[in-house]
Amino acid sequence: MGFFTDSTLCIGCKACEVACKQWNQLPDDGFRLTGMSYDNTGHLGASTWRHVAFVERESPLPGQGSPRDGVEAGARAFEPLRPLGQAGTTSPLADDVSPSHIETPVALGPTAQAMGKFSWLMLSDVCKHCERAGCLEACPTGAIIRTEFGSVYVQPDVCNGCGYCVSACPFGVVDRRADDGRAWKCTLCYDRLEGGMVPACAKACPTASIQFGPIDELRERAAHRVEQLRARGVPQARLYGESAASQPGTAGLRAFFLLCDEPEVYNLPPDPVVPTKKIADSWWAMAAGIAGLGLAAVGVVLSARRAA
Ligand code: SF4
Ligand code: SF4
Repeated sequence: MGFFTDSTLCIGCKACEVACKQWNQLPDDGFRLTGMSYDNTGHLGASTWRHVAFVERESPLPGQGSPRDGVEAGARAFEPLRPLGQAGTTSPLADDVSPSHIETPVALGPTAQAMGKFSWLMLSDVCKHCERAGCLEACPTGAIIRTEFGSVYVQPDVCNGCGYCVSACPFGVVDRRADDGRAWKCTLCYDRLEGGMVPACAKACPTASIQFGPIDELRERAAHRVEQLRARGVPQARLYGESAASQPGTAGLRAFFLLCDEPEVYNLPPDPVVPTKKIADSWWAMAAGIAGLGLAAVGVVLSARRAA
C-alpha cells in the first residue's frame, strides 16, 4: 500500500495536515507564518507528519498569459483525475481506497492561483516510506520496522533516541521530539490501516490530491495522469520516485509524487541515495587499500632481500 500525491490538484488547504494532527494527537507548531511564504508550518518534523509546501514562483503555469488566460488554461490543464475505469461510474478502486467525494470534482488548486506571471506550486509532503529506507537500515535498536502494509514504522517503545535515523534519511523526514529525544514520523496511519480505514490525510483531502491504495494501482493511475496532463499542454508533468528504475538510490518510494517542475523546486533531492547503499563500496575500497598495502610491503621486503 502507499500514497500517490498529485501536486497539481493541491489547493493548499492543509486539511491533510490538520487531519494528521487530529488523528495522531500531534501538538500544534505555533501557527506562526514563516515570513518567507503563506506557509505556517514550514517543514516536516516530529509534530508535523504531513506538510503542505507552498512554492511561490515568478513563473507562469503552462498556457498562462494574461490573468484571464491563466484561469482558462489552468482550468483545462488541471481538471481533476477520475479513478481509472470510471466513465460516469465508480471504479472498484474508488470504492476501496479513495475518498467518496473523489466522484465529485471540486474547484481546482492552481487554477485560482494561476494569475499573470506568478504561480503557486503546492505539494503535501510526507515520509516517503522508501522501499530501501535509510532510517530503517541505520537504526541500531530495531525500533524501525517494515509493516505488513509495506510502510516504514518507528516503534516508540523501542526507540532510544540515538538519532542515527535522522541523518540516514535522504529526505530529512525523521525528527526527534525535544522533550524525550525519541524519533517520530508518519506511520501511514498504521492503526487506521489495521482497522480497514484509509489514512487520515487521504480521507480528508477534498481534491483527491492525496490518493491511497495498492502501489501498483497507484502507479498505473499516476502514469495515466501524467499522460493526461502532457496532452493538455503541461510537458513538465513528471513522477518522482514511483519506481526503483526512476529512483535507484532508494529503490523507489511508497509515497511518490506528481510534480510540475524539477524536484529541487519543491525542495526534494533530485537523486536521493540511502547512505547505507555506499557501505559495500566502502568496504571493498578498504579491502583493496589493505591488499595494496600488503603487496607494497611484500615488494619492499623482497627488494631488501635482493639488495642484501
Ligand atoms: S528514509 Fe526517510 S523518507 Fe525513507 S522511510 Fe525512512 S524516514 Fe521515510
Ligand atoms: S533514534 Fe530511535 S528510531 Fe532513530 S535510529 Fe535511534 S533508536 Fe532507531
